[in-house]
Amino acid sequence: MNVVETARDLATAFAERAEQHDREASFPKADFDDLRAAGLLGLMVPERLGGNGCDFATYARVAATLAEGSAATALVFNMHCSVTGALAATPDDLARAVGAPESFFAWRDRVLADAANGALYLVAMSERGAGSRFSAMTTAYEAEGDGWRVRGHKTFCSGAGHADAYAVVARNGDSVSQFLVPAGDGIRVEQTWDPLGMRATASNDVHLDVHVGRDALLGGVEGLALLLARVSPQWLVASYAAVYVGIARAAIACAATQLTERGLHGLPAVRARLGRADAATQAAWLATLDAASRVDAAPGDPATNRAVYRAKLLAGDTAADVAGSMLEACGTSATRRGNPLERLFRDARCGALQPATSDVCADWLGVAALGLDPDEEAAVPRW
Ligand SMILES: Cc1cc2nc3c(=O)[nH]c(=O)nc-3n(C[C@H](O)[C@H](O)[C@H](O)COP(=O)(O)OP(=O)(O)OC[C@H]3O[C@@H](n4cnc5c(N)ncnc54)[C@H](O)[C@@H]3O)c2cc1C
Repeated sequence: MNVVETARDLATAFAERAEQHDREASFPKADFDDLRAAGLLGLMVPERLGGNGCDFATYARVAATLAEGSAATALVFNMHCSVTGALAATPDDLARAVGAPESFFAWRDRVLADAANGALYLVAMSERGAGSRFSAMTTAYEAEGDGWRVRGHKTFCSGAGHADAYAVVARNGDSVSQFLVPAGDGIRVEQTWDPLGMRATASNDVHLDVHVGRDALLGGVEGLALLLARVSPQWLVASYAAVYVGIARAAIACAATQLTERGLHGLPAVRARLGRADAATQAAWLATLDAASRVDAAPGDPATNRAVYRAKLLAGDTAADVAGSMLEACGTSATRRGNPLERLFRDARCGALQPATSDVCADWLGVAALGLDPDEEAAVPRW
């Protein structure tokens, strides 16, 4: 069975658990046990380290399929893949060129091999007040003994408390860096998550006052975080796109079932809503696949980055539009708590909010369309 077929099987089980985790805003632990048992936590890990060695386009197919079963599980899985995918895809010569010490490569391989064996890595980047803007973050780091001390407060950390390690963005003066901080002493999770949508991501607050070893500095060099966000935005921007396409597909399937069961499928207005939703979802998917294949062929290329921002904008907005339209087609009964369309409608609403937000993507693309540098031309810093 290939990884997409495995994801399809898992999505069926995830769909059965989704309602309860949404209601409780609780982490879908059994879903991650299933992903671990199926070997999918090694999706982006090179085969030489025991993983599946998949490319970005395969990631997109797997993520969209998982999201058809549980949007929240697929979103947390996206966080894990963004850490492992970015680590796996950074070429050794590039890492050496920016100054990575030799010890970094052995450490990176160990981290990736652990993922193939079931370790889960999540992202503690965002902060209250700063959102995901690296340049506004207050979490701080400094050299301490044989490594670093990282202190600060993070919010919206999907899966907080369930990870083996967290990718943490922190600053030391003007230098913004990323660390992989192992779970354990010095990390405290505060249960703050009771939101509108994507409730089962359990994206709680994380407080850090922790010593980490020298190799925990991602890339082995200080000050790389902003550079990496610019040259390889795919894991910060486009990896969400597939998840939101999966939500749109799930909303259409759910609406088709409910409309048929209720005998409303003969209504022309209802059919037209399904038809428009189908076309819009497929368009967002093609934009996502275009971005993904460009990421695999020419990562960091200006045309690739443009495709990345387009995919995120289209998928985020399309999911919300499609889920809203499907809810309307199915009527008020679909808005009852416990109806899967009601959950999908709320989950879909989060797509435009995740970084880069739809408004930020649109601004970035507009600046590019004007022939200007979209990373430089911004009312406030992009990251
Ligand atoms: C379901 C869910 C799960 C998440 N999981 C994680 C996670 O695991 N880890 C994590 O670190 N974070 C996570 N986040 C947080 C997310 O990554 C963002 O950091 C956060 O949503 C952005 O912060 P904010 O919503 O406060 O918006 P802000 O970024 O503060 O934006 C507020 C407003 O300002 C606008 N804006 C911001 N910057 C610009 C700009 N440069 N140009 C023009 N307009 C701009 C935005 O469009 C928006 O309208 C999650 C968020 C959600 C919804």
